[in-house]
Amino acid sequence: MGASKIIITGGKLIDVEAGDIIEDSVIIIEDSRVTAAGSSNDIELPTGADIIKVDASGRTTLPGLIDAHTHLQLVPAENEHETLIKSVPLKAIQAASNAQKTLEAGFTTIRDLGAEHLVDLAVRDAINDGFIIGPSVLASGYKIAPTGADFRIYPPEVKISGQYTMDSASEIRRATRELVALGVDQIKIMTSGRTFRKTSSPDTKVYSLKEVKTAVEIAHDNGLKISAHAHGAAGVKLALEAGCDTIEHGTILDKADIEFMLENNIYLVPTFSYSSNLKRLKGDSGIPDYSINKALSSRGKRLKSFQAAYQAGVKIAMGSDSGMPFVPHGTNAIEIIEMVKAGMSNLDAIRSATIIAAGALGIEDRTGSIRPGKDADLIIVDGDPIKNIEVLSEINNIEMIIKSGEPVIKRGEYTCG
Ligand SMILES: [Zn+2]
Repeated sequence: MGASKIIITGGKLIDVEAGDIIEDSVIIIEDSRVTAAGSSNDIELPTGADIIKVDASGRTTLPGLIDAHTHLQLVPAENEHETLIKSVPLKAIQAASNAQKTLEAGFTTIRDLGAEHLVDLAVRDAINDGFIIGPSVLASGYKIAPTGADFRIYPPEVKISGQYTMDSASEIRRATRELVALGVDQIKIMTSGRTFRKTSSPDTKVYSLKEVKTAVEIAHDNGLKISAHAHGAAGVKLALEAGCDTIEHGTILDKADIEFMLENNIYLVPTFSYSSNLKRLKGDSGIPDYSINKALSSRGKRLKSFQAAYQAGVKIAMGSDSGMPFVPHGTNAIEIIEMVKAGMSNLDAIRSATIIAAGALGIEDRTGSIRPGKDADLIIVDGDPIKNIEVLSEINNIEMIIKSGEPVIKRGEYTCG
């Protein structure tokens, strides 16, 4: 553990709750919590020994970033065969390394939405126990998904393990209860097919209302949120009607869906990074044409749905889908830039990756903003992301990362501080 007090002075502070920029700010951290944050005119500086003083002049302090949609276990550059022949221990070690890369990019919290072999739970626990460094992980374990929607189907003589599927309400009930008992932080369910798989359609719903409601009821009864992978209209409407809390992707949203999301406090997690990188790389990507075409056609629709939802005031949480092809772990902040390119203001994009994401995850009482009483999760960046959002995507600009009051990463002149 570091010194018991850290005082950060001289820089800008982004108050994501009020939407204010405080020019000459003071932040005081004691142990793992923020005890004061605001203008230097209003806060008296403590004195005494055992205080780390950080001069943030010319810098901006903002809450530690939150990625609401990651897959720590997936390695973007890998093809399916490479993934299948890799041992589970190696997958776990890679996931641990991916978690570290994510923290190093300024993300102090992530929600991991589906991993095989419960690798996400292992990484979460290893971080919490201090064996490895990484963000706080909210883990889902395996997804609730039916046969054919998520995983490739192999001939019966090929044995694959760890890719669970549930094909009835009773199988979903058992799996959801098992996940709850294993200690997951939320449930992830698929209500539509995928853009990536040849035989899975994003426009098709993959469960009945009764089936999705089964998982929703068990999640909610146990105080957990439930996230729905939902692309097309059928999958989105199914997720909303069943009571899911966050819509991942949300490619097709009509007026009624947007109204429903506003009334019921349902969050949207658009995930633009995969298709934006694919658009740039196209034929050079090594991804089959059917995947490229599905992803690009989905992208145009998703931009329109995102813009309509944003204008209507739907809460939008940033989620990079890191681990997908061309979304490397540690480049999560590119999603923030993508949301700005899609029409969000810089401040709203930062809110989306902090306080709004914290709300989507149900942890806004302890993180997501720099306020007294909250966990001291924050980053100090060289430059001003309100003026230039791209400073967040260059890792060397993230000069200091403090997680739960601990300065876990220091770069530049802070290296020896
Ligand atoms: Zn995903």
